[in-house]
Amino acid sequence: MADIQPEAIRNPEVKFTQIFINNEFVNSASGKTFPTFNPTTGEKITDVQEGDKADVDIAVESAKAAFKPGSVWRRMDASRRGKLLWKLADLIERDISYLASLETLDNGKPFQGSVGDILFGINVIRYYAGWADKIQGKTIPVDGDYFCYTRHEPVGICGQIIPWNYPITMFCWKIAPALCAGNVIVVKPAEQTPLTALYLGSLFREAGFPTGVVSIVPGYGPTAGAAISEHPDINKVAFTGSTEIGKVIMAAAAGTNLKRTTLELGGKSPNVIFADSDLDIASAWAHEAVMTNMGQCCIAGSRTFVQEEIYDEFVKRSVEAAKKRSVGDPFDPNTKNGPQIDNEQLGKILELIQSGKDEGATCEIGGARHGDKGYFVEPTVFSNVTDNMRIAREEIFGPVQQLIKFKTLEEVLERANDTAYGLGAAIFTNDLNKALAFANGIKAGTVWVNCYLAVNAQAPFGGFKMSGLGREMGEYGLQQYIEVKNVVVKVPQKNS
Ligand code: NAP
Ligand code: MG
Repeated sequence: MADIQPEAIRNPEVKFTQIFINNEFVNSASGKTFPTFNPTTGEKITDVQEGDKADVDIAVESAKAAFKPGSVWRRMDASRRGKLLWKLADLIERDISYLASLETLDNGKPFQGSVGDILFGINVIRYYAGWADKIQGKTIPVDGDYFCYTRHEPVGICGQIIPWNYPITMFCWKIAPALCAGNVIVVKPAEQTPLTALYLGSLFREAGFPTGVVSIVPGYGPTAGAAISEHPDINKVAFTGSTEIGKVIMAAAAGTNLKRTTLELGGKSPNVIFADSDLDIASAWAHEAVMTNMGQCCIAGSRTFVQEEIYDEFVKRSVEAAKKRSVGDPFDPNTKNGPQIDNEQLGKILELIQSGKDEGATCEIGGARHGDKGYFVEPTVFSNVTDNMRIAREEIFGPVQQLIKFKTLEEVLERANDTAYGLGAAIFTNDLNKALAFANGIKAGTVWVNCYLAVNAQAPFGGFKMSGLGREMGEYGLQQYIEVKNVVVKVPQKNS
């Protein structure tokens, strides 16, 4: 992808603000709209059609028609589904400058971050495009005179609820495995970031996806989101967001039709730095692990455990890195941190920072709002953090680093596991035995050794414990969009 040189467009035109159903952009059934804001300024960008239950119902009807036996989609060669996904990826790549600019406008993340998100999303789509005609069952040598085989069939109508922190990436993680396996989908983007999802609707149409295969219904969680998770005709719901809402989604699925549920939820991921690690590498990763995307990252390394021998030096390095991290206009190529997503998140982060100060942690740098326009937070580093403080237990989702002291592997493993979450974990050490003992003992869906944030289209991603249910990406992620059907055929035995 070295030949792609995306260029930022400061004021990208908003082309689509309506609900995408049946390959058309339409108004909401209620006639209502909702505003989406630019978090850099706090100003309204535009109004978007507000989807609700009635719109989700229409989308589900169109999905049902698209999924009917004998429909264009059901009869389509699997290899052709792969080609459609590949075409979609090509179109996203064609429009990357525009899409990345629109993402930065609506979400506030630095332009290069938006570009990185889109490139990752394209990788995921192409990875699953290749899977489309490789989804196959088995023949099984069962006892008796039977021919037994399995079919790997699509689950059916999948509702997909997307968060605001990585809008395009999360969109691609959801749609690609679902579509390559032959499902049909109804997607709800987050209320804060609906714009890029709607533009992607136009690209599905341009790529040639049949009518009704993809619907995109922007709206609020408790209305449009709940209509998806409670819908009796939706066969599966895939959700990324908070653990709190994950529980609501699962209860809704249980209370209606037991739709299959995959959840990618929050985290409080431990990042353990041993004295025998390369400190330049470890401190740079530890900084990036918690500051990337302004800390609005489910795998943020938000508990940095540092071995006591190097603790003071590590504090110094962390403060230096935070001091250097430029905060400001996300369209400026030198900016590392843009604004937080909205005023509510800003308030939540500042409240947690205050709790850290009140509970006796030392705020080494930052600790306040940056500027008075938009929702910026200063890169913040806390030292002298102890395990029971709220900043060591709760997901902050902001650029706030917690430095916690430890002595031994055994001790830090127990403390690292003392959380309801289990999404990511990392260890920095030059001792392979320590690394392997940590990787075996930690309860987390992903463990990094001497790195962080390495997430790949080919490898599974998801959480232990209250960080989620199921996996996304890789072959494991595909399985979540497949029903296994066992077929048993009696084979009469005749004497010849
Ligand atoms: P959230 O409420 O969990 O939002 C995630 C998605 O779920 C959004 O599309 C949201 O819609 C939707 N939703 C909300 N209520 C729903 C309901 N009752 N039924 C169905 N869908 C519903 O997250 P948030 O309030 O934006 O952020 C709060 C915290 O969640 C953050 O501080 C962070 O700790 C965590 N979070 C984690 C991730 C992650 O990647 N794991 C992502 C985002 C947030 P609307 O936005 O339209 O209401
Ligand atoms: Mg916005």
